[in-house]
This record gives sequence, structure tokens and C-alpha cells, in this order.
Amino acid sequence: MRLSRRSFLAGVAALVAAGCSRDDDPAAPTFTPSTAPPPTTGTTATAPTTTAAPTTTTAPLAADPFRWGVASGDPLPDAVVLWTRLDVDADTTVTWQVSADDGAEVATGQVTATGDDAFCVHVDATGLAPDTWYTYQFSAGGFTSVEGRTRTMPADDAMVERLVVASGSCQHWETGWYTAYDDLVARRVDLVLWLGDYIYEGAGQPVGEGRVRAHPPEEAATLATYRERYAQYRSDPALQRAHAAAPWLVVWDDHEVDNNYAGLVSQDGDPTDVFATRRADAYRAWWEHMPVRLPRPVGDELTIRREVRAGRLATFLLLDGRQYRSDQACGDRTLSLDPPCPEVTAPGRTMLGDDQEAWLEERLAADEAVWTVLGNQVVLTDARVGGAILNHDQWDGYPEARRRLVGALAEHGRGSVVVVTGDIHLAGVGNVADDAGALVATELITTSISSDGNVPEAFEPALQALPNIVWGELRHRGYSLHEITPDAWTATYRIVDDVKREGSPVTTAATFTIEPGRPGARQTS
Ligand code: CA
Ligand code: FE
Repeated sequence: MRLSRRSFLAGVAALVAAGCSRDDDPAAPTFTPSTAPPPTTGTTATAPTTTAAPTTTTAPLAADPFRWGVASGDPLPDAVVLWTRLDVDADTTVTWQVSADDGAEVATGQVTATGDDAFCVHVDATGLAPDTWYTYQFSAGGFTSVEGRTRTMPADDAMVERLVVASGSCQHWETGWYTAYDDLVARRVDLVLWLGDYIYEGAGQPVGEGRVRAHPPEEAATLATYRERYAQYRSDPALQRAHAAAPWLVVWDDHEVDNNYAGLVSQDGDPTDVFATRRADAYRAWWEHMPVRLPRPVGDELTIRREVRAGRLATFLLLDGRQYRSDQACGDRTLSLDPPCPEVTAPGRTMLGDDQEAWLEERLAADEAVWTVLGNQVVLTDARVGGAILNHDQWDGYPEARRRLVGALAEHGRGSVVVVTGDIHLAGVGNVADDAGALVATELITTSISSDGNVPEAFEPALQALPNIVWGELRHRGYSLHEITPDAWTATYRIVDDVKREGSPVTTAATFTIEPGRPGARQTS
């Protein structure tokens, strides 16, 4: 499609504005349950680091403490992490229970919700059967939580006929309703893959002017204010229903800490020690509120990269593109069609960090599943225009790191790698190619649940004119559904008609199919 330079630049501006309301990114290690201290395990659960303080209460509570619902995540063939947070002001004994489909109790235990963890609890419910749905519930002080549904992964050596995964990202509280989640829940997905921007840290803006509800007035930057932000987001009933419907695999991007941060470099140039303290608080609050099998963070570091296997059908490699990355080059300027500054190709620049890169290559080489899925934060597909980098926060801004990753995908990916990406607030399909133009992987870009909902339709042709972008849709918010079988991967892009209106209809924008061993997606509707 031919575009005038002006309309192209306008479109590019919209693209970059959408993507860079500036959020994004991550990288982290393999799932080694044995190294994961926090969750309590089995039927004899006890509080992880908190052995019953004298103030722990089992007395009746005055009000229902389960106002943030329940969640589950990081399923294994025999275990799943269960989560809840209590609205209490003293350490409280919580009883948890897992039941089979017929209602029979299969596991139970007690854990102490403590103020140290904002009264969040993580339980690693073990001894479960593979590839099986369960229900779970918490109770405390005479109150019982809603019932959640969760499931275990198939046995590592089992071939699964079908796995349905939803991917989502970017749920800015202020800019839209979480209507997409009710559609997701109705689809009865097996798993939700969350790609980051679970919260946005910014200070509240007035309702109106495109904002349907407001953040707290103060930007989140301390443990207390990050916790307050998670409490706000988790108060949304649709989000609670989505967490209660299936286990989630969660990684973070930038807004869980600070827009477009890179390593220990903040958006606003804070002193490193100041930002390290902020990052420690943000990571801590994220850990408290996510249903993850990860150790309670110590200081300003938390390894979240991990591998999650769905039998021999699919292996999920969940990345962290924020914690270890080099600062964005060239002043993180956006939308310029000038050639990039030399800093972009400076030796040693990294997106994932050396350790995570080595881990990823090792996992790619070892993986024998039909599909290898990268849970990735920012767009990997080359979206440069004549060599110009439109968004330095994406992989475009880290060309040497991308070359290394694409090389690893070419060498080990067997043509069966699907990169699932969030961040940019638009739906898209990308061809990930090597320098010679050979396809090595397919990228499926999930639009935002609610963030940045007002990009004009007129800018869509500019997106689709990018050579490696097979398809794009930036007018709507929504999520993606992935039906994964041994023969095909079918991606369905679900979009919300009007994210500013509660209960707005959700429809399919497009469907794409990928065959294992043949990178590149074919549009099927
Ligand atoms: Ca982001
Ligand atoms: Fe975002």
C-alpha cells in the first residue's frame, strides 16, 4: 500500500505513541520448585517466613476479608500455586482447600497471612493429578472466599491434543473497562499468559477526557503506594473473575515499576540508589500480588524467567526484558526517521542480560516440544523504516541482542517458535526473520486489555505498510486466544467494540494459523 509521507509519519507517530505511552519489558530463570521458598506446600502448609506471630488470630472476623478474590498460577503436572489477599489488620490464619470436580476434597492446609506480605498468601498445592481441573477456596474468621477453578499441566511426557491459552497485557485502570475478561472467562481457557503492565504507576488523572476511572492522586513509588495500586486493580470484578477461571503465567514489563525503565535506569534519571529502592519496593509488591512460584524477593532483584511445560505439546519460556537491559539508546527518542545514533550498536548492549540469554539458548536447544512459546514483553519483529528506529524501547533498539536471539531461534527453534508479545497496545502478526530475510519464528502481538484506547483508525495503513508486519489492528482493545494442537496453532484476535463502555460487545478481528516447522502465519478469517 502506498502512503504519502505525511500520512505515513502520522501513522508512525500514532504507533509510537501507542507503544510508548512508554511501558514495557523483562527476562528471568528456570522453574525450579525446589529453589522457590515462598509458597507453602502440601497439606501441612505453614507460613513461609513467618512462624505464627503471637498476634496471629483465628477468631471470627467482623467483615469479609476476601475482597480481592482468588488466583492461581505456575501450574506443574502435580502442583499449582494458589493466591489470595486478606483485608485484615492482624496476622490471620487462613485455611485453603482444593477439591476435585466431584467435590471431594483432595488437599487442604493452613497458612498465616502476615502484614509483612500485605496479608497476601501463596500456597503451593502439591500432590495433584496431571492434566486435571480442580476448584479451590480459602476461608478465615468465619468467611469463605469465592471458589476458583484451576488446573494442572499434563505430565511432561504426555502429548496433549489441545491447549487453549489466552494472552493479555496492559490494563491501564483509567483508560477503559476490563470487558475483555468476561469474554475470556466464557471461552473456558486452560491458561492465561500475562505479558506485563499489570498496573500502571502514574498519578491519577481526572475522569473524562478519555479516562473512565482514576488512579490514586500520587504516582506509585513506594511499597505502600504500589500495594495500594494492586489493591485498586484487583478490586475490579472482571479481573477477579479472570483470575478465578484459570491458572495464569505472569511476567512483568515496565509499568509495574516505572515507565520505560531499563535495569537501574529510571525514566526521570533518578540516582541509581534511589531507583534501586523503588524497584525493590515494586518487585516486592508485584511478587506479593501475583500467583507465582517464585522466592520472596530480597532487595532490588528478582529472577522471574522460567520454563513451564505443557507436556510434549508446548514449552513456555517466560522472559524478563526489563531488569537486565541496557538503557535505551539515542536518548530513547521516538518517531525519528533519522539514522540511529552509533550507541545503538555499541558492544555489550543487551535486552535480556548475559545469564538470561545463555539460559534461553540452552532451553531452546533442549526443548523437544512441538511448540516453543516465548513470553516476551516488547516487539521482536523488525519494525524499522529504512534503518530508522521508531521505538528504541523495542527490540529494534537492541539490534545486536536481537541478532543473537534470532540466531539462537534459527539454530534451535525448528521453525516452531511462537513469540507472544504485549506492550505496544495494538494487535499484530509479525515475521521474525534473520538478516538474510529467512523466517525463523512467528510473532503474535496481543493488544491491550484497556491501555491507550483511542488511536485513530486512519493510522492503521501505516502499521500494515511495515514490511515484516503481516497484519495489524490498532483501533480496539482486547486480548488473543491461542488454540494449540500438535498440527496447528490458531490465534484468534478478540476485540472490544468500545472499551470505554462497560459490557461492550467482543468480536473476532481476525484469525491466523501457523503450522509447526513452518514459521509465518496464514490469515484464515
Ligand atoms: Ca509496557
Ligand atoms: Fe502498556
